[in-house]
Amino acid sequence: MSRNLELFERGKQVIPGGVNSPVRAFGQVGGTPRFVKRAEGAFFWDADDRQYLDYVGSWGPAILGHAHPDVVKAVQEAATDGLSFGAPTEGEVEIAEEICRLLPSVEQVRLVSSGTEATMSAIRLARGFTGRDLIVKFEGCYHGHSDSLLVKAGSGLLTFGNPSSGGVPADCTRHTMVLQYNDVQQLADTFKDLGDKIACVILEPIAGNMNLIQPSAEFVQALRSLTERHGAVLIYDEVMTGFRVALECAQGLHGITPDLTTLGKVVGGGMPLAAFGGRADIMAKIAPLGNVYQAGTLSGNPLSVAAGLATLRLIQQPGFHATLGARTARLAQGLAEAARKAGVVLSSDSVGGMFGFYFSEQVPTSYAEATRCDIERFKRFFHAMLEEGIYLAPSAYEAGFVSIAHDDALIERTLEAAARALARIA
Ligand SMILES: *Cc1c(COP(=O)(O)O)cnc(C)c1O
Repeated sequence: MSRNLELFERGKQVIPGGVNSPVRAFGQVGGTPRFVKRAEGAFFWDADDRQYLDYVGSWGPAILGHAHPDVVKAVQEAATDGLSFGAPTEGEVEIAEEICRLLPSVEQVRLVSSGTEATMSAIRLARGFTGRDLIVKFEGCYHGHSDSLLVKAGSGLLTFGNPSSGGVPADCTRHTMVLQYNDVQQLADTFKDLGDKIACVILEPIAGNMNLIQPSAEFVQALRSLTERHGAVLIYDEVMTGFRVALECAQGLHGITPDLTTLGKVVGGGMPLAAFGGRADIMAKIAPLGNVYQAGTLSGNPLSVAAGLATLRLIQQPGFHATLGARTARLAQGLAEAARKAGVVLSSDSVGGMFGFYFSEQVPTSYAEATRCDIERFKRFFHAMLEEGIYLAPSAYEAGFVSIAHDDALIERTLEAAARALARIA
């Protein structure tokens, strides 16, 4: 019996679904999750010692490839000096300085341990700063699993959301409005009716949790001008896009200065680290300066900070994002070409080190369009690629991630495998 299957069966006895985060269970694609034994560069090896070329990269953090020697060394050295103190360290000041230097919109920043914590705290802060309750999010954007953000669109225009998870009281989502991504008119109508009640608008500035979906320039400009005019806080949730789509993040690509930004994934270099930061006048409302409470026993953990700092330094090497972006674009374009040759309907897109492919004629622009693609076809493609030793996200609604360890030859190897896989599923 496969060791992966054996571990999965054993795990299911003591861990719900055998996994510690639901998408890992292969629920959408079926089959047995690969249990990772070790990883290096662009590859990981499963419990049966089979090698895979990894396009998940821990869902984003592994931008340098797995186990980069400089990052591993930084963590090992930090560990020698102690694992956690519950008192401030020099590293925390250094990484905060680095984040503020790289992101002009961030004047002050607070470190936390997960993206969920970063967005939850940013929303509390926006509410505390404005004295308003209402928050606006977009359907298909994921901002972690805090109660008020686990919400799906209500029926009809300008309605409040319903909880999208059990265990979330409707009272918790009563103040959350869910609008359509890229719908400028709906956004403008909402601000016209309720603008002076809106504490904040939070979005994935390039969405990666409903496959990859980019906003129009008009949409992000409307977001900035409407929030500014109505005194609402604009939150760019860059937990996924931060330092991955560009060194200046999505906000730099868009030429937008948000009021608050959330970071995670790449900023922690594979360790539990995330952050929220922005305008100094808003950040001054956070405890101990202000009355908005926020805290964490392991916040700014020295090992996480060491991994984050080492990662931020390495991605600032000249040409890093240009190279990463060119390889990712080649992958996305190559997938579409291979599909055309195989007679399979597929479109694709990429930004920096993130890519999406869609079993539909056109690149989607909203959640409704993203969920209209051919899921059955995705499942068959996923498994055909897995047989080829290529590990894609086990869900049709997640973006893919390329690391700098994915060199040109590995991208070509992937495209050759994709051509065979597509021929098999055509
Ligand atoms: C991953 C993600 C989160 C949640 O981060 P966790 O560290 O998993 O809690 C929040 N927002 C976005 C955009 C993400 O991609």
